[in-house]
Amino acid sequence: MSRGTGVRRDWGGDDGGATILHVDMDAFFASVEVLDDPSLRGRPVIVGGRERGVVASASYEARAVGVHSAMPTARALRLCPDAVLIPGRHERYREISRAVMALLGSVTPALEQLSIDEAFLDISGAQLRLGRPTAIAELIRERIRDEVGVPSSVGIAGSKHVAKLASGFAKPDGLLLVPVAATVPFLHSLPVGAMWGVGEKTREQLADKGVRTVAQLVTVPEHALGRWVGQSLAARLLQLAWGRDDREVTPGRVEKSISTESTFREDSWDRAELERVVLRQSHECAARLRAAGLVCTRVTLKVRHSDFATITRARSLAAPTHLAADIAEAARSLLSEVSLRGGVRLLGVRTDGFVEAAAAGWQATLDESEARLAAEQAMDAVHHRFGRATITPASLLQPPDH
Ligand SMILES: [Mg+2]
Repeated sequence: MSRGTGVRRDWGGDDGGATILHVDMDAFFASVEVLDDPSLRGRPVIVGGRERGVVASASYEARAVGVHSAMPTARALRLCPDAVLIPGRHERYREISRAVMALLGSVTPALEQLSIDEAFLDISGAQLRLGRPTAIAELIRERIRDEVGVPSSVGIAGSKHVAKLASGFAKPDGLLLVPVAATVPFLHSLPVGAMWGVGEKTREQLADKGVRTVAQLVTVPEHALGRWVGQSLAARLLQLAWGRDDREVTPGRVEKSISTESTFREDSWDRAELERVVLRQSHECAARLRAAGLVCTRVTLKVRHSDFATITRARSLAAPTHLAADIAEAARSLLSEVSLRGGVRLLGVRTDGFVEAAAAGWQATLDESEARLAAEQAMDAVHHRFGRATITPASLLQPPDH
């Protein structure tokens, strides 16, 4: 997230009605490493792949000299030669994540986990028991620190969008309340890139038109904005920019996407090889979907070229699926439309748009699907027994945390 340097850290203390909390762990993977090895405290810690990898998480000591998530590890080590580089222990991070989420769930069942290290809480039903929103937020931060041992930041606001922005400005190890009455002034003080839904591409498109702040954004007529970034995004951005966001905290959506990425030891130009990788990745996603009892409705292919330019291409599926064959068909078709210019450094497949397989009444009804499902489930069993390493390409990277 882009952070304006002049963002106000105090928007007043009236927390009435500010019942949405966004809880986000600080430099999560790095913090877990410090927890498990206290000799690392106060030192620059980088979790990431050594060879050709990227930074998955960096402690604030490393961030102080410019290291950030998704930066190539080699560059991070040049910026911060004293850093302790740790390859990453994702099973341990998941374990700590489960402890944090269990703790949050004891505050309120109205808990929506967004990723391994962040969640929304709607604490409107917990106030009688636990007090005002700011008191609950402080309680949460204290308990995570005391009972789990890692630092977190909390944003408090009247909507998910603003709570998420607020936690970003609360970091590290802080809390930021945006009173409901301050919602619009807060939003209009921000750079447009801070908004949810504004990625690097949209930010550049808007900057080309001279729109750099949210305050500038709201002066653009919707039809003009629509011509620049597309009508649906334009409408959504203007709603958000005026603080209109009535999305509810939706419990139980633990996973929003299932994805896997591979960084190659050497850049690849070989389409046949890339297709094989995509197939393996599709199998991995499908197995994880089945294990979670989910079916996906969208497949996204991610390609990072040698010069680090990264593109994603998504395709909605005709029918929900948890079959590798369907996922691979979509992913390979997307790959066929991508130029391999200069070589490919990283390839990834993501599935999302989940529906619970049982709730959707979805099942493989066609004979062909059933046969494929049986074959794929047999493969799941083999992987379960012998370990996933048998099909895992090069080095698998987890998505970077924030
Ligand atoms: Mg985080």
